[in-house]
Amino acid sequence: MLLAGNWKMHGLRGAVAEIRALGRGLNGAPLPADILVCPPATLINEAVKAAEGTRIVIGGQNCHAEPSGAFTGEISAEMLRDAGANAVILGHSERRQFYGETDAMVRAKAEAASRAGLIALICVGEDERQRDAGEAVSVVQKQLDGSVPASAPADPIDLVIAYEPVWAIGTGRTPNPEQIAEMHAAIRAWLADRFGAAADQMRILYGGSVKPENAGTILAVTNVDGALIGGASLKAGDFLAIIRAVPQR
Ligand code: PEP
Repeated sequence: MLLAGNWKMHGLRGAVAEIRALGRGLNGAPLPADILVCPPATLINEAVKAAEGTRIVIGGQNCHAEPSGAFTGEISAEMLRDAGANAVILGHSERRQFYGETDAMVRAKAEAASRAGLIALICVGEDERQRDAGEAVSVVQKQLDGSVPASAPADPIDLVIAYEPVWAIGTGRTPNPEQIAEMHAAIRAWLADRFGAAADQMRILYGGSVKPENAGTILAVTNVDGALIGGASLKAGDFLAIIRAVPQR
């Protein structure tokens, strides 16, 4: 199980206190999940320091496909790693929608993440029109076809797929458990087709309006190996409540 927080473009330096509070809240108790926090890039270094001595790992929210070069404003996977990050979110729908990221770009970034030794969380998900048209599964399969690297990372747990229906992100709406189960089964089957037995170790996260109140139900769905959490990861109290809601398996 992996619970990953996506802070998006939220947080000045003071926000790192939430990571310290999260660490204190987790102290001592056996963790039911790996915990990842992805703050804005400006906070990664401080976040890594705040997470020292805890089992929280820190990640980025995007990276460039090249290790270095004349790409003003960009950050490479190697730079994230150098700053102490262990993971990176790639192909989030906001990046696809607002910055024109294509499947091919996401795939190149995922290859870069792997080269730099980062866990790659590749986001996929349909929009509302596609769901209403009955196209959700085929849209996600096509995104996987284009976004996921051809070869598995040396350790399969370094490839994570986050299913995030666009219409559920930040809206308070979620698919029902049957819809989540159907999509996660389709993603598992796609991974098995591409990577064989290694697919069983790859984690498939659900993302989109996960809150303390619905986390237990969502995380109990078959083939849900964790969650990607936006708004509810910004406050340690909410994130801790989600961690406590992880069902026993
Ligand atoms: C996200 O942006 O990845 C996300 C899941 O956001 P929220 O939890 O706020 O819907």
